[in-house]
Amino acid sequence: MAFSAVTGQKQIKIRLAAEAQRRGSAAYMLSGPEGMGKRLLAEEFAKALMCTDCGPDGACGVCPNCKYFDNFTTPDVTRVYEPSETKNVKVDFIKECVVAESYLKPQFARTKTFIIDFDYLGAESQNALLKSLEEPGKDVVFILTSSNTDAVLDTVMSRVTEIKLDPYSDEELEEIVRANCPGLEDDKVRAAVYNSGRNPGKAISLAKEDSGVSIRHEINSIMTAMPSSSYIDVLEDQCGVLTGFKDDHKIIASSILMFLDDCGRLINYPDCRKINNEMDREAIEEFVAANKHITTLKLGRCTEAVNTFLRAMEVNANFDSSASAMLLRIHEELKK
Ligand SMILES: [Zn+2]
Repeated sequence: MAFSAVTGQKQIKIRLAAEAQRRGSAAYMLSGPEGMGKRLLAEEFAKALMCTDCGPDGACGVCPNCKYFDNFTTPDVTRVYEPSETKNVKVDFIKECVVAESYLKPQFARTKTFIIDFDYLGAESQNALLKSLEEPGKDVVFILTSSNTDAVLDTVMSRVTEIKLDPYSDEELEEIVRANCPGLEDDKVRAAVYNSGRNPGKAISLAKEDSGVSIRHEINSIMTAMPSSSYIDVLEDQCGVLTGFKDDHKIIASSILMFLDDCGRLINYPDCRKINNEMDREAIEEFVAANKHITTLKLGRCTEAVNTFLRAMEVNANFDSSASAMLLRIHEELKK
């Protein structure tokens, strides 16, 4: 990956690539609201700084240093991102792993780089960094990010070069959404962009919600067709549909479970006021009425098959074989 693989932020990418080629100690602050892509740019900038053959597009992607970077095995890049257990990064960690570390020589690259997400740094930790930011050690580059520079100490801001992320164009936002939600229909891509407030992170999450709705819809079609499907239909067509949603196995499973639960409710209480999927209520009611052979016992066995599928996914089993095993098991129960 190089800067050209990051969508948008054209001027900033040109500037960062030039800075990476120039090298020299420095401290930058990439700022902009959450979801604007600061971390992606920070990572790409750090990679360009590591690269032994950095050009106007940043990292070459093939030199050993680029490979180390991609495998997270370079000792010359330190990332300080959100801590797993506490709200903020502990000040001791900053002192040991950033301040002290910044006085050591880089091992493979010409630069030692620290990427620090300031959204997780309290005042004490920020203070601990002041001296390092003012006079970074030789060949040290600090890439800081913040989604709210009001929460960053003035003494920090006065020691860094702030780079504010630029707004994205509609075309750039559409490109980002398409890359993250392949196969999403054009009108849904445009709706996600339109409602995102020009924020790519927001646009992606809106688009993902939308693709969740389309997965549920597809699953319903598969399930309602199950009693009249043949073994071959299941293996060839229906498994193929699921493969298209491979990255969203949890949504697949929850959609099937929701369908099974709704059938159970409608079998036991045909007049029940609310089912999970009210949007498709009519189709599910018709399904239940047309398939009297389906009992809650059979539905329970289908639920077991879905849970088996979920467990298989947790241990990284092969998606295609796990999904087809699940569908065949459900078919066995629901077929006429
Ligand atoms: Zn390289």
